Amino acid sequence: MDLQDKKVLVTGGSRGIGRAIAREFAGGGARVGVHYCANQAAAEHTLESLPGAGHVVLRADVSDADECSRLIDDAVAALGGLDVLVNNAGIYDLHNVLKLDYTEWQQAWQRTLDTNLVGPANLMYCASRRMVASGGGKIINVSSRGAFRGEPDAPAYGASKAGLNSLSQSFARALAPHGVFVGVVAPGFVATEMAADLLEGAEGDEIRAQSPLNRVAEPSEIARAVAFLASDGIGYLTGCVIDANGASYLRT
Ligand code: NAP
Repeated sequence: MDLQDKKVLVTGGSRGIGRAIAREFAGGGARVGVHYCANQAAAEHTLESLPGAGHVVLRADVSDADECSRLIDDAVAALGGLDVLVNNAGIYDLHNVLKLDYTEWQQAWQRTLDTNLVGPANLMYCASRRMVASGGGKIINVSSRGAFRGEPDAPAYGASKAGLNSLSQSFARALAPHGVFVGVVAPGFVATEMAADLLEGAEGDEIRAQSPLNRVAEPSEIARAVAFLASDGIGYLTGCVIDANGASYLRT
């Protein structure tokens, strides 16, 4: 994978899977924009841990359309261009249909869709227009097994990730003639803060046993798949979704 000197923006690069993605790209010689929303200290910690030079920390709330536009401007200015956008930032809020009142239900849907689907759509809009103007680029989106398997306690999350898959494939078709590649990685459970409560709780053993590997993914495994999709020489894979769920949910 030739990532040397690529200019890469990783949303949610401050921690979890995003931190591993930032490290994977930096390890390959890329310049990385480590994006965060609320946790500046985590973003600075990630930045300090990256090999190579030229990396920067960038802040934005991706659920805000204006901040998405500014984030792409900031990334282009700080990195000297933008070759790869990784839409990794996301939230997982519990909102079981039988447990919330109607107002809470609507709030959960709004927040989840704004962050996990509309935010990436806005970032893809802003980034892809720059990429087309500069001759091409790559957009890699981090989806979820929940898009296919269902999320009984977080239906807006599953819907947001199914929407992200469809959005990615629409962009892949629209932008392939302009040299912009779009790929998706759809992880099952990954050992990060997002999944920590579940993995450390009563359901932890059952979740690990969903995979015949009897474990969840390490963030580095997801990062490797993202970097693969960002590498050169695989243009015909545009629009693909890589299942990274340890054979816990197989589909044909
Ligand atoms: P995480 O540890 O909870 O980290 C979430 C990241 O998203 C943080 O960097 C956070 O920034 C950022 N973020 C949250 N809300 C944001 C907002 N409104 N604007 C901008 N950034 C925001 O999550 P993770 O487990 O690494 O998950 C990363 C991606 O993988 C997500 O899209 C998630 O849906 C997906 N995924 C995770 C799993 C899993 O089991 N962990 C499974 C399948 C898919 P701050 O730290 O600054 O708040």
